[in-house]
Amino acid sequence: MIWFLYCYFAVLGSVLASFADTSWGRIAAHRSLVWPLSQCDVCHSRLAPWELVPIFSFALLGGQCRRCHTRLSYRTLVFEVTGAVVPVLIMLLAGIG
Ligand SMILES: [Zn+2]
Repeated sequence: MIWFLYCYFAVLGSVLASFADTSWGRIAAHRSLVWPLSQCDVCHSRLAPWELVPIFSFALLGGQCRRCHTRLSYRTLVFEVTGAVVPVLIMLLAGIG
């Protein structure tokens, strides 16, 4: 049962980290946080729902845009992995599980 909690907080952490990374870029560019929906920064094609799944989509797409094949930033992947690992580490250090 504790593995469910680890997985839950890992997924939640990676989603929040991905959103924070995207928001950071949009705020710096003085763009809206909600519009346009997630898209490729180069070809501006809208991302499919499965392309929004952190870490999984990066691995499945080989780290590039599905349409224009532009390489995606590894910074995003590092953010997402860190967002997944940190909550689990905190839980382990706090003695949860
Ligand atoms: Zn693209």
